[in-house]
Amino acid sequence: MKKTILILSLVAINCTSEDEIMKHPLDKSEVRTLVLENDIRVYLLSDPKFNVSAASMSVEVGSLQDPDAREGLAHFLEHMLFLGTEKYPDVDEYSTYLKTYGGYSNAYTAGDHTNYQFQVLPDGYEGALDRFAQFFISPLFTDEYTAREVNAVNSEYQKNIMNDGWRQFRISSQFAKEGHPQRKFNIGNLETLGDVDRNELIDFYTKHYSANRMGLALLSTHTLDEMEGWAREHFSSVKNFNLKRNNHDPIVFDKKETVRVAQIEPVKDLRDMQITFSLPSTRNMYQSKPGRQFGFILGHEGKGSLLSYLKNKGWALSLSAGARPETKEYGYASIRIGLTEKGLKEYKDVVRATTDYIHLMKNNGHQKHVFTELKSMSNLDEIYSSKGEGMWRATQLANETMMYPLEDAGRINYIYSDNSPNSYENLLSNITTDNMLILLIAKGVFTDQKEHYFQIDYSYNEDEIFYNELFTSSNREEFIIPKKNPFIPKTASVPNRELAENVFPEVVYNENGVKLYFGKDHEFLRPKGVIGFKILFPKETMSVKHKVYSRLYVACVNESLNELSYPAKQAGLNYSIREGYEGIYIDVNGYKESSMALFELLLDHMVDFSITENKFLAIKDKVVRDYKNFALSDAHQQTREKAPDILYHVKYTWEESLPVAESASLNGIKDYSKSLYEKTYTEAMVYGDFEKTDAEKTARIFREKTKTKGIHREEAFDLKYLQLDEPEIIQYTDNLLVNNSCFFRQYVLGEDSPQIRAVSKIIDKAVQQPFFTEMRTNQQLGYIVGSYTNNLDETHYLNFLIQSGVYPADELNRRADEFIMSSAEILNSMDSETFQQLVDSVIEELEKTPMSIAERARKLKTYIFEHDADYLRDQDTIESLSTIDKETVANLLDSTVSPKSRRMVNVLTFAENHDNITKVKSSFRNLDTWKASRVYE
Ligand SMILES: [Zn+2]
Repeated sequence: MKKTILILSLVAINCTSEDEIMKHPLDKSEVRTLVLENDIRVYLLSDPKFNVSAASMSVEVGSLQDPDAREGLAHFLEHMLFLGTEKYPDVDEYSTYLKTYGGYSNAYTAGDHTNYQFQVLPDGYEGALDRFAQFFISPLFTDEYTAREVNAVNSEYQKNIMNDGWRQFRISSQFAKEGHPQRKFNIGNLETLGDVDRNELIDFYTKHYSANRMGLALLSTHTLDEMEGWAREHFSSVKNFNLKRNNHDPIVFDKKETVRVAQIEPVKDLRDMQITFSLPSTRNMYQSKPGRQFGFILGHEGKGSLLSYLKNKGWALSLSAGARPETKEYGYASIRIGLTEKGLKEYKDVVRATTDYIHLMKNNGHQKHVFTELKSMSNLDEIYSSKGEGMWRATQLANETMMYPLEDAGRINYIYSDNSPNSYENLLSNITTDNMLILLIAKGVFTDQKEHYFQIDYSYNEDEIFYNELFTSSNREEFIIPKKNPFIPKTASVPNRELAENVFPEVVYNENGVKLYFGKDHEFLRPKGVIGFKILFPKETMSVKHKVYSRLYVACVNESLNELSYPAKQAGLNYSIREGYEGIYIDVNGYKESSMALFELLLDHMVDFSITENKFLAIKDKVVRDYKNFALSDAHQQTREKAPDILYHVKYTWEESLPVAESASLNGIKDYSKSLYEKTYTEAMVYGDFEKTDAEKTARIFREKTKTKGIHREEAFDLKYLQLDEPEIIQYTDNLLVNNSCFFRQYVLGEDSPQIRAVSKIIDKAVQQPFFTEMRTNQQLGYIVGSYTNNLDETHYLNFLIQSGVYPADELNRRADEFIMSSAEILNSMDSETFQQLVDSVIEELEKTPMSIAERARKLKTYIFEHDADYLRDQDTIESLSTIDKETVANLLDSTVSPKSRRMVNVLTFAENHDNITKVKSSFRNLDTWKASRVYE
């Protein structure tokens, strides 16, 4: 244990003190903002704690700027920037470079901006910046890749056709007023982009990409001076055309004295209502956060809330609400409600209740205590929470740099400097029924129209009578505006402990079927902690009924707890109770102040939950629909789930589970829960700003409340995996109900050892990019293409995946096979410098240190729960990596995929509209009989 003593003045946080920016004493980050001569706004963040370096460029142009006759052009152009620049013409230069230095990249196109981002290990940072900057200086837009990449955009479109989220977005945009750019089809496909040529790309690029419309964020361990130097060196030559800012019509919906209702037939069995109001943008009101206050009050789930009322009426299961800016001119307030069958039938009553609650909000005006609580929590979070690192943080910072005043960029979420009621009351004054659109999304709703691009069945009507009815609101005595939250931490301060490295949790209790690890945080010194329990049940408990009942049971417990525990969640004290394959998991995580009390509350409800029959029926209905909806989820998700059908000794499919769920009753689940904890084996970890006595208390409370009789680890259920000892191919072929086919292949790499872990990580990195470049960029097989290595228990696997809307699975199989057979060549032809770089980047990734107590605890829990508290596991892998040579890796990859020695599971699933022309068959007639003949260990 290495110890360093840090002298800490105890920093106590007074949550209501005025707006001084306070930093945790361990936070050594530094910020600098500047504007380059070409007007690019730059945000630099240097932090010695970062594991990776990252950058992001936010450009003020998006699909709202698509030419009318070229819908999807902004998005297509986003794809094309990745495919070669004058300085680095190779299509996969950028991605290969990033992979070599342990990094990756992404981009997205929104309505009013496009964001490009990457992350990489610090050694590769400057080289990555140079390559990245070329996107904005000299993209090639070659004819060849312009013609090819349209197919990738079309695949992305095909992937989204059956996605209900995209379909709802598409329909709601139809109701923007005539001529508003919000109506545009933003993805693009072959129909809108098929004949696009490079001149159009160049036109669009020079019309919209200009340095004065860009915000750049650089995040690294390098110093601010170094980063400023690179920003100037690499980004100063981005051209500045001094373009005007894009302006958008602030009015999205025309005001109309009627209630607009659109009904949508979903792909999955959903039952939702979305109520949307168009608003002036709240982006420039970030100092007073009216949208958050609106969402906090209307989306509250405690007693007296709108959701609580709707649940008690038997109308709803879930509700979320919020208001957000879409552009600098306009935004939306929206409320999404998960309806019950009754709620769907009586949806007008649900709307009435919602508008009545909004009426109550208007009558009560600005709630000072809500503003103060939001502000207190954000003050605490700014000091004590990890803000993360890498490309997602960079993305957010670049957007803030581009969209907000430079002096406030980086802190937009934490600023609550304006407590005047104006912006909130102004927002509420825009929540009016003449400005409202209701979407009803459910199977069997009335439809008489078809949307063109997604082929969505929908209908639209305007209801004036209902509009007039909504003018008279009634006071419902159940409604309450949320009261002061007792869970807001009052005593948060920096714990007075010495800093130390490698302090691992130790077993402090191991009796009566409970093995408890406890560790104190000596790394972050935050007033936070984590309590994690993994509860296992006896082997003989496992059955399809147990699996389904435990899912229903966990949902009942969560429902029973929700109103009481919701305020704790609002106060940064999160918890979850969930069921996994092996048992039930409890997690409490956040400010430790009330965490013991919360843990006790969770257990009270776990041993004796209380919900009404109506609520149970709503939960059951949701679980039943979720099972049924699985057959309509993305092809790659369904296909990946088929491998465990073969690999796990116990695996229940949704088809087997469905009838059990359908016949379950509240009494049945109650009975099940009464005997559930009779015998258990529990592994637990308490970590963070806790004392040993706190940890011991959790074990005591657990035993007292559940009255459990402990069993031995060996008596508890343990998932076993298929033994593949001899070369063989297990083929699994199936048909899907969706419009994409999928190829998924798993090879056994070997049994766990430090060397296999080392080799597996190198293969993962070496194969990924070439597979993607060949299958997606060159052959354009589909949008979702990937390869990766992983492990199940003690066995390591190499996986390949392709989802395609165009090619059937047997064709994907044939083409992937050709690539995979020669994949060892990738390593054989790699020069030793590149290989060494790959190894170094794997080592650096393993050496990454967590950024928060929660992240550290997650890592420790994995060691404890899955690897017998082998804390030095990664260290052993690193040692093996430091001596590994290229031949060893190439040879293992070769024998893994070679027809002579391969052990593989090959899953081919065919889209509804694709034929299995080559008639590939599964290796078995009946899966259960086949499994009974195999060995699982
Ligand atoms: Zn895309």
